[in-house]
Amino acid sequence: MAFKFFRKKKEDALPLRHRTATEKEDLFCYGFDASSMQGEPSAVVKPVSTDEVSQVLSYASGKKIPVVPRGAGTGMTGGAVPAKDSIILSLDGMNRVLEIDKKNMVAVVEPGVINGHLQGKVEAEGLFYPPDPASMNFCTLGGNVAENAGGPRAIKYGVTRDYVLGLEVVLPDGRVMMTGGKTYKGVVGYDLTRLIVGSEGTLGVVTKIFLRLLPLPEETVTLLCMYSRLEDAASTVAKITSSGIIPRTLEFMDHEAILAVEQYKSFGLPVDAEALLLIEVDGSHSAVSEETGKVASICTSLKGKVSIAEDMFARQRIWEARRSISPALYRIKPTKINEDIVVPRGKIPEMLRALRDISEKYGLKIVNFGHAGDGNIHVNIMTDKNDEDEYQKAKVAVEDIFRATLKLEGTISGEHGIGLTKKQYIGMELSETSLGMMKAIKKAFDPDGIMNPGKMFPDTT
Ligand SMILES: Cc1cc2nc3c(=O)[nH]c(=O)nc-3n(C[C@H](O)[C@H](O)[C@H](O)COP(=O)(O)OP(=O)(O)OC[C@H]3O[C@@H](n4cnc5c(N)ncnc54)[C@H](O)[C@@H]3O)c2cc1C
Repeated sequence: MAFKFFRKKKEDALPLRHRTATEKEDLFCYGFDASSMQGEPSAVVKPVSTDEVSQVLSYASGKKIPVVPRGAGTGMTGGAVPAKDSIILSLDGMNRVLEIDKKNMVAVVEPGVINGHLQGKVEAEGLFYPPDPASMNFCTLGGNVAENAGGPRAIKYGVTRDYVLGLEVVLPDGRVMMTGGKTYKGVVGYDLTRLIVGSEGTLGVVTKIFLRLLPLPEETVTLLCMYSRLEDAASTVAKITSSGIIPRTLEFMDHEAILAVEQYKSFGLPVDAEALLLIEVDGSHSAVSEETGKVASICTSLKGKVSIAEDMFARQRIWEARRSISPALYRIKPTKINEDIVVPRGKIPEMLRALRDISEKYGLKIVNFGHAGDGNIHVNIMTDKNDEDEYQKAKVAVEDIFRATLKLEGTISGEHGIGLTKKQYIGMELSETSLGMMKAIKKAFDPDGIMNPGKMFPDTT
């Protein structure tokens, strides 16, 4: 039964009543994220300061009420989906860029800042914040920290973790903890910053983030390379990554992904291509021109047809096409089981072969795209939840995909995390010992288990 927050004695009432919603219609939008999971919270609270977050957590911990932190709700694995009778702590109101410290190349932000908003702000100052999830125009930096989000530029610049210098975190009992800060180095005690990054809101609520910035690269060139054989595209990835060049992005789309995007909105992608690569190089003018030449000649040596974006408009259009793959896929079938496996990048051709075999074995449509440069393939099984038979087959196929990934020394998630949708598979990758250590850490932070319960660990509900 839902908690009756407002009917109790005054001292029992949930703090921040003026920032709290409890009506069914107000709660509806907070019931799901970009996964297919759903739930219903008892209340949504929208704090605007660390102190307010702390008040809510002290209250919830005293009453042992589950709390689920939420950014923009774009997570792919159900991390922000409400637990039963929980309070959703919606952090989108904590959305100030507190400081862009040009001298020290550090940005200090609140968790509700949209990733793309920070990118625009720092670029105007000649600075660069590289992590660029495809959802960058609508996901929050707090969500990025909680999921350790990555993006196309990860191949050269790394993921969110590589930019987080420090955090302010409100612990489940309401205490406020600082980890790290503005310095680029620091080895005092355990590295709690790295522990919180990627913890999926299960250890505490991030209320302030210190981010390392880089100088904005002088120039960027975008190449689009089309292939009539998937194998040639996969071999190009392996050849580029072993050539000594580190491109800024090395993205891959298979035939079905190209087709889906073109049917969604006409971008002028070649619908007869079996695969395409979207490659960028950046740096100083001379380095970029040399590397562009080398990359183009590797592509053509493997029968790729190369075109170079002539201007900013052409570049943006190519990226718009890439970012629209996720929504475009729903044109194929209404349900998408989306996995984001990673294999050592030299093993991409083998992984793609395994995926084709699995698709044939179960008669399922599997669409692949992703960050080929770092071995991260987004595998999308397109199905229909209402087709009981096919949906069951799709679920069995997921296990086959994870088995094949692990056999190739890969990992079952590169950036989307575990959340609800992958928790039953976590034991395929982690040993009992590792899982036991993780549970002990969770217990130390959150002895009452109120912080985003039911996520990540298979034996929790
Ligand atoms: C079209 C599309 C494309 C995407 N592309 C990418 C991609 O390229 N790379 C990638 O990595 N991801 C991608 N994602 C997934 C998603 O955008 C990221 O995981 C993102 O980091 C989630 O941010 P959010 O603000 O939406 O977080 P939410 O979905 O609201 O929350 C995600 C998790 O973070 C926790 N959380 C949120 N805020 C806080 C906080 N302040 N403190 C503690 N915990 C918190 C939540 O409890 C939850 O567990 C994509 C999603 C979509 C829909």
